[in-house]
Amino acid sequence: MEKQYSLKDLVTMKKPHPCGTNEWQIIRMGMDIRLKCTHCGRSVLLTRREFERSLKKVVGSVDENDESQ
Ligand SMILES: [Zn+2]
Repeated sequence: MEKQYSLKDLVTMKKPHPCGTNEWQIIRMGMDIRLKCTHCGRSVLLTRREFERSLKKVVGSVDENDESQ
């Protein structure tokens, strides 16, 4: 099943970041995918293939105006 993701989405990966957080935001999409750790702010660059292989779950998109839940 294809995973759907887009820029600014929050995702979890199969391997958490060493800082202990496993929540990343997609900050750049192109030939490569750049992810930023939402906890420590460090970013990593993965190829699309690497990204899709290590992607665990797309948590959802960030909507700053959504105050529900
Ligand atoms: Zn981190």
